Amino acid sequence: MDETQHGAPSRRQIMGGVTAGAAAMAAAAPAFAQGGAQGSSQAGSSATATATPGPLVQPRDPRGVYPKPPFIRQPQDWPGLAGQMNPRPDHGETSYRGSGRLAGRKALVTGGDSGIGRAAAIAFAREGADVAIGYLPQEQPDAEEVLDLIRKEGRKAVALPGDIRDEAFCRQMVDNAVRELGGLDILVNNAGRQHTLPSLDELTTEFFDWTFKTNVYAPFWITKAALPHLKPGASIIITASVQAYEPSAALFDYAQTKACNVVFAKSLAKQLAPKGIRVNAVAPGPYWTALQPSGGQTQENLEQFGGDTPMGRPGQPVEIAPIYVLLASQESSFTTGQVLGASGGSGNP
Ligand code: NAD
Ligand code: MG
Repeated sequence: MDETQHGAPSRRQIMGGVTAGAAAMAAAAPAFAQGGAQGSSQAGSSATATATPGPLVQPRDPRGVYPKPPFIRQPQDWPGLAGQMNPRPDHGETSYRGSGRLAGRKALVTGGDSGIGRAAAIAFAREGADVAIGYLPQEQPDAEEVLDLIRKEGRKAVALPGDIRDEAFCRQMVDNAVRELGGLDILVNNAGRQHTLPSLDELTTEFFDWTFKTNVYAPFWITKAALPHLKPGASIIITASVQAYEPSAALFDYAQTKACNVVFAKSLAKQLAPKGIRVNAVAPGPYWTALQPSGGQTQENLEQFGGDTPMGRPGQPVEIAPIYVLLASQESSFTTGQVLGASGGSGNP
């Protein structure tokens, strides 16, 4: 009952997003330096290993380039730190190579301290963008690493700690990003809350509210605050999930919010196309990120995380970064209201 649980492919899977996702990856591939073979041997080791195999340009069998289950149990308090994961996720720190595809752009990425948002933030900086990242104050150690990496690219890095469940903070975060960056071209609504609970009996109103405030209300508040600053050519991206299409029993609230994220992109794209602003969603499958050991999965499920995908492993955040780059860049100027996926072989329409 987790992000890895998928059903048989539907007609929509064959007709829709998987094809689009594959096309996106193919289009983005030249900018991405694929990693080398370092596989399951790291999973389960006692020392903190890294999933980062280092940059290589040769094609590699994707099944073996990153760790596979079994993983060791590693409970963390919410919201979790990437720096304490074993193996450490690959966010592209040494493996993502840019080629100027976002030169001079100004981007805000929520949840940019770790996981998928961090991979997008690093890739954006390597592609030439100045990047502001939102995150929770408890995540300062992870955030510092990302801010350093952005600065090492010679780009401006802006730190925006705070809780996006608060509408006033959302407005302030956007205002600060716009002021510090000197404008805004790319908005990535990526911060998210996932907490696995087996039964409705345990799902309190407080928990339900927490998930919806983070995953549904905050993107609304943040986007509303950002809109007056976005010009024709701007790109809004929201991180949805395969859970929008293949919901797990134990992610009843979370899966509903991810379906909301899909509709966010499809509806807003229609509203904003006349203004020259594109809106798209990314639907990841199972990715090895801090959200999972900090309550997103049971520790029992974490041991086998990603093992039931056709690839036999979870994705690493860097493996989805090229989709964010593509959607942010001018190259995808006719792509709006779309959902692009990367989920290891199943789960998206
Ligand atoms: P992550 O924990 O590394 O990133 C999530 C980030 O959300 C955190 O780093 C935190 O900064 C931010 N966040 C959460 N609550 C917040 C709050 N109240 N205020 C401010 N920031 C807050 O995990 P991730 O997996 O990279 O998650 C990124 C996005 O990807 C989420 O929207 C998640 O739903 C989505 N997603 C993840 C997976 C997966 O398997 N990891 C699969 C599908 C979708
Ligand atoms: Mg984090």
